[in-house]
Amino acid sequence: MYDVLISGAGPSGNKCAEVLARAGFKVALLERNCKWRKPCGGAVSARIMQKYYPQLRKFNFLRITGASLFSANYQELEYNWGQRGTDSLIVDRLEFDNFLRKVAVDAGATLHDNNYSFDFIYKEKKRIGVKTKTPSGTREYRAKIIIIADGMSSKLAMRSGLRGKWDREEIGMAKCSILEGPNILDKNKMYLYFRAYKGYGWIFPQSKTRVNIGCGTFEEDNLRHDLNQIYTEFMNDPHVKHFFPAENYKNIWSGAYPLPARGVKEHCLYGDGLMIVGDAAGFVSPISGEGIHAAIVSGQIAGETAVQALGADDTSKKMLKSYKTHPNIKKIIRNFKLKHSMVEFFYENKGINLNSMFSLAEKDEDFRNQVINMFFFNLTPSKEFFERIRNFNQEIRDVFHES
Ligand SMILES: Cc1cc2nc3c(=O)[nH]c(=O)nc-3n(C[C@H](O)[C@H](O)[C@H](O)COP(=O)(O)OP(=O)(O)OC[C@H]3O[C@@H](n4cnc5c(N)ncnc54)[C@H](O)[C@@H]3O)c2cc1C
Repeated sequence: MYDVLISGAGPSGNKCAEVLARAGFKVALLERNCKWRKPCGGAVSARIMQKYYPQLRKFNFLRITGASLFSANYQELEYNWGQRGTDSLIVDRLEFDNFLRKVAVDAGATLHDNNYSFDFIYKEKKRIGVKTKTPSGTREYRAKIIIIADGMSSKLAMRSGLRGKWDREEIGMAKCSILEGPNILDKNKMYLYFRAYKGYGWIFPQSKTRVNIGCGTFEEDNLRHDLNQIYTEFMNDPHVKHFFPAENYKNIWSGAYPLPARGVKEHCLYGDGLMIVGDAAGFVSPISGEGIHAAIVSGQIAGETAVQALGADDTSKKMLKSYKTHPNIKKIIRNFKLKHSMVEFFYENKGINLNSMFSLAEKDEDFRNQVINMFFFNLTPSKEFFERIRNFNQEIRDVFHES
């Protein structure tokens, strides 16, 4: 019998397990497959290294000190944060996830690999454990609290009754590859391309000769665009292709996977003896698709909530509510709601507002700073900011009308 079972040993589950193990509780991490490389760009913000995993400094992951963002009509906004001393990292997810697992295990958690969680064990209608499929048959694990951290494909999240199946319009669909070969990219910079539909593409250098490259669609545009087709188009886009002068590139790995696109599913976060964290609960930024940071924060806070509940010998829904009402979780929920509303604005009329925003940023330093604060520092732009974009669109329309 464990104190806590955590299904899924990704960023959210590992951080949660580490917190609980450090507090002296008996924790089991149930993982489907530790050899699986999660399809992901692998961009890890400086906050993760500074606050949650200082050990990452010792790794050889490439340091990123700037970004170029491109609108659908390829206007560029470049920002360099090198002087701030807050380098981001581009990680290989297989290596990164196994590092996080090691931190959790070193703290005292028990990792059970090759365990696919598929259902709960009940006693008098109360959830008391998890059933897994393993190569040698079904296994059962019991605990006082269960934490669902097994991402987008979670079976337990649906079995819990807290949330239903993802609707295709509330997710993103993305495909990416790791390619090896010569390129002329700035190795300390990431490249992000907004598209004319709800979607984006990225090129993230992993080393001098390796890149993680990919693209995706989200919400209703999942239904209008074929993922393989937009991926081929992105790879052959002259604005992308010119970075890769060789005839052939070695494909080290490719994968496709869904991600949440509408922010946190705030009504499904906890129940009696149960919490849902990370992707399984929608902790991904609706604009950038960045989810590793929010996964780690949600895992940490769910872990701390479980520590308190176990200490008070009360694992009821009422007790676990403090996970959702924690100020950092509330901040993420608010921030993602705002970002989702901005997505609607940016992608109006084939991304016209984004195009205008990048044009205005090129002409006006103050406006440019507001764009940078919004994309890189989560600051909310003023009302006038959006009005200026709309007025600029109108000016362009007027010019076309007159000519
Ligand atoms: C293509 C793509 C690109 C992305 N790029 C970025 C990026 O550059 N930066 C960023 O911050 N975010 C990015 N994200 C989002 C990021 O990958 C996720 O938000 C983050 O990995 C969520 O962590 P998690 O622990 O909640 O879930 P996951 O990372 O999905 O981990 C879930 C774990 O549970 C395991 N599992 C699944 N089902 C079961 C089961 N039934 N039983 C047991 N174990 C199970 C899995 O094997 C996995 O180890 C991207 C997502 C996609 C799809």
